[in-house]
Amino acid sequence: MQNPFTGKRLYFVTGSQDLYGEETLRQVAEQSSEVADLLREACPLEIVWLPVLKDREAIRRLALDANSDDSCLGVIAWMHTFSPAKMWIQGLDALRKPLLHLHTQAGVELPWDTIDMDFMNLNQAAHGDREFAYLATRLGCSRVTVVGHASHPHVQEKVARFARAAAGWQALQTMRVARFGDNMRNVAVTEGDKTEAELALGVSVNTWGVNDLVAAVDSVADAEVDALCRTYEELYEVQPCLRQGGERHDSLRYGARLEIGLRSFLEESGFTAFTTNFEDLGGLRQLPGLAVQRLMADGYGFGAEGDWKTAVLVRAAKVMGYGLPGGASLMEDYTYELSPGREKILGAHMLEICPSLTESKPLLEVHPLGIGGREDPVRLVFTADPTPEALVVSLTDMRDRFRLTANRVRLVAPDAALPNLPVAHAVWQPEPDFFTSAECWLSAGGAHHTCLSTNVPLPVWEMLAEIARLELLVIDEHTSLRGFKQEMRMNQVFYRLARGL
Ligand code: MN
Repeated sequence: MQNPFTGKRLYFVTGSQDLYGEETLRQVAEQSSEVADLLREACPLEIVWLPVLKDREAIRRLALDANSDDSCLGVIAWMHTFSPAKMWIQGLDALRKPLLHLHTQAGVELPWDTIDMDFMNLNQAAHGDREFAYLATRLGCSRVTVVGHASHPHVQEKVARFARAAAGWQALQTMRVARFGDNMRNVAVTEGDKTEAELALGVSVNTWGVNDLVAAVDSVADAEVDALCRTYEELYEVQPCLRQGGERHDSLRYGARLEIGLRSFLEESGFTAFTTNFEDLGGLRQLPGLAVQRLMADGYGFGAEGDWKTAVLVRAAKVMGYGLPGGASLMEDYTYELSPGREKILGAHMLEICPSLTESKPLLEVHPLGIGGREDPVRLVFTADPTPEALVVSLTDMRDRFRLTANRVRLVAPDAALPNLPVAHAVWQPEPDFFTSAECWLSAGGAHHTCLSTNVPLPVWEMLAEIARLELLVIDEHTSLRGFKQEMRMNQVFYRLARGL
């Protein structure tokens, strides 16, 4: 996967006005530049400090420049002094890039014994930022607010998280999703309004005949297949019958062919996410398992059974979590352990779970698959690594809006070995407890397909939802069913009113 942060930037802007005179404005510029330097320490995106904004035309121009600069993923704004906010109306109204309002000041400690009116004049973000925030709120301006000194780790971390969320938003805005076939017949939750999704999220979702993929797969050169099979033997514990000379080596060769063909199809047209459907495999000899798993590990979004919404989520998670330990995958709530006190969820899919969920060496095996009516597919088999910090996130179409539902979960080891389960899987205990989690998830109409993310923390998803103006229902250690239902009722009203007529 290419580094999604390369060549991408956040603008850092400081608001002021002409009133203060040259000397003060020189200090504003100098100190705001130092603040930008501090934020750079943890931020995955380049931060570009821009000259202090002092009037409404400069502010409007800044917004238009940010909008038209494809390398600009967002704007950080700080009012070191007092920047009368009517100057910001046109600019904020025009701004289409994610906004972070940084509420900070130049120094940490107040110089109590020397403080004079010059100091007060310069260091007045405490009310300058309130003026700015009033206007932003009055305009209904979606933004992330971060409070504290720029040297404090929690401030730097929040800015870094905003950078990741902004990169996720850009990934949505530029995403092309290839669907091989339509949705699985009669399934409701994987359906959705693709036209609305392009407006609300920016994602372009279109269907391609599966035989276009078959043609790409069939045209793969044997030498490429040979090389990839050797790579498999280096990376995975390959079942003896699949190895070179083994009686089922041909199944592995077809798996490699499928991967190369699928990858080239996606690369050629700039797709970053895709779906398959086992009901529509055309001339494919196997349901793509290994190929899908490896493409997900390389940063592609994927959803099974035509589930393009989950493919979108997985791709967004890949971008937002880039470079962090852990990973993201399509996941499906499959079956439960219901012994009192040991309740947990076993998640898996027919084949397609991403190996970024484990540090261990996956097994590469072939087994029969009752579904799909094709040859036995090759697949990677492993258990997702335990971690106390993970999330399952679903995206559902509620007719008048899209809804994100997220549940914080703890990935745990299975209660016992699973010698007869021939697919990759994960086991988790949801917050706040199994019963509340499932009651809330079902009440919210959350999907059975999710993105399981082990490296994008909840605050990043919350920021993405803020930027995208998406409803986000969170089930975590603070959740009660009563409060959750009340929030859903309020949201039902809010999102309908907020949408307008
Ligand atoms: Mn499924």
